[in-house]
Amino acid sequence: MKMLLNGQWVDRDDKIDVIDPFDNSVIDTVPSANAEDCELALASAVKGFEVTKKMTVYDRAQILFKAANLLSERLEEFATIIAREGSKTIKEARKEASRCVNTITCSAEEAKRILGETIPWDSFPGGEKRRGYYYRFPIGVILAITPFNDPLNLVAHKLGPAIAAGNSVILKPATVTPLSAIKLVEVLLEAGLPENAIQVVTGYGSVIGDPLVSDERVRMISFTGGVEAGKHIAGKAGIKKIGMELGSNSPVIVWKDADLDLAVESCVSGSFWAAGQNCIGVQRLLIHKDIYDEFKKRFIELTNKYKIGDKLKEDTDMGPMITEKEAIRVENWVKDAVDKGAKILTGGTREGALYAPTALENLSSEATIHCEEVFGPTVNFYKIDDLDKAIAEANSLPYGLLAAIFTSNVDVAFKAAYDLDCGGVMINDSTDYRLDSMPFGGVKYSGLGREGLKFSLQEMTEPKVICFNLPNI
Ligand code: NAP
Repeated sequence: MKMLLNGQWVDRDDKIDVIDPFDNSVIDTVPSANAEDCELALASAVKGFEVTKKMTVYDRAQILFKAANLLSERLEEFATIIAREGSKTIKEARKEASRCVNTITCSAEEAKRILGETIPWDSFPGGEKRRGYYYRFPIGVILAITPFNDPLNLVAHKLGPAIAAGNSVILKPATVTPLSAIKLVEVLLEAGLPENAIQVVTGYGSVIGDPLVSDERVRMISFTGGVEAGKHIAGKAGIKKIGMELGSNSPVIVWKDADLDLAVESCVSGSFWAAGQNCIGVQRLLIHKDIYDEFKKRFIELTNKYKIGDKLKEDTDMGPMITEKEAIRVENWVKDAVDKGAKILTGGTREGALYAPTALENLSSEATIHCEEVFGPTVNFYKIDDLDKAIAEANSLPYGLLAAIFTSNVDVAFKAAYDLDCGGVMINDSTDYRLDSMPFGGVKYSGLGREGLKFSLQEMTEPKVICFNLPNI
């Protein structure tokens, strides 16, 4: 596939292979962009903004509604691309493709709800003769940088609201999974998006990141990815708006009165969805001592039924990690935990990029897999008996995206909801539950600002005040 610069799909001699991590076959190639390509993208995006800022809300919404329709007609094609270039099984990929239709549709709906307010000028002496209001205006060029784990829907979470708001966009998709993103841009152009409203620059973040991030023509960076890249980007950005959706180490409390069937099923799925490469994937299970053994038994039984392997087979539950290198990293983190006293309850084996769904107990607080985001198919078990201590443990790490609790006691649920330090608390769901239109984001190292279409639109617009001085009224 090609990248999109100045309204043209362009190729370069220097190419990057896009590889299916299950069998290492090359699915396609994309050009490896350089600094000159970045300059062309930036200049074209500025031209694009001159067009997009004059488009009506109606026109912006119509393009997005049409794109959502086109996508819904091609769901299986999109699901197959997601499943081939990334880690997801075809079942997981279908879910992502249909969520993407919802993300684009909600962006169109939210475009029609960009609102302002009349300002009460007479609320301070001297303002009596003034009348006016504020309305929200687009920001300008938005640089969207996206990760590999939801290669379509997380791109839609940036392009949908950016277009709805009237901005132009430069998209830099993850190098390992650029194909779904490029296909989505094709659909948006087919739906009528003006040619310079969007640029797609494919290439390594380490090469094209700095020239794009540090350029003053970019007025906002919307980044989803890991903390390390996030810190680097924040350091290079200069004075511009930054939205950051970063990683986590999600805690789930299973209280003694939990519905165990529900908790086990939800936590197994939440731990191993997309081979654990999921920003809201369950990483720490804090289980009440009264039900610990029963929960553990049922969790292991269900995990052991998981079919791992070929992503395109209908009955596969979990695919490979994104690269063998990542699977080796997880293997090393598990070894490190075992060296520090952890016990492997199930899993702990690797074959190429396939790492078996794994559960550990008896974790040392020094183990990397306890403190850092694992972003792989492993989950840690901890025994608890006191709610305050469990909440303190959940809050003890420098992340805070989503947290969760299973309980049938409303007092316990409310206490956890108020005291857990994070961007959202799920009650009787694992952390792996997200509605695309809910405010989504984290505290501490989990991020800055919120996505979720209405909330992204707030971030991607600025209020402008319009004030009439009317001395003769
Ligand atoms: P990553 O390595 O941080 O990469 C994310 C994106 O940033 C990629 O497009 C990458 O490009 C780019 N990038 C890397 N270094 C850059 C630089 N110096 N300048 C500009 N761009 C740069 O993350 P990942 O491995 O793809 O994704 C996993 C991470 O994303 C996890 O930490 C996960 O929790 C997080 N995530 C968060 C959310 C959320 O909503 N909070 C959702 C999904 C994922 P290359 O691909 O070329 O390196």
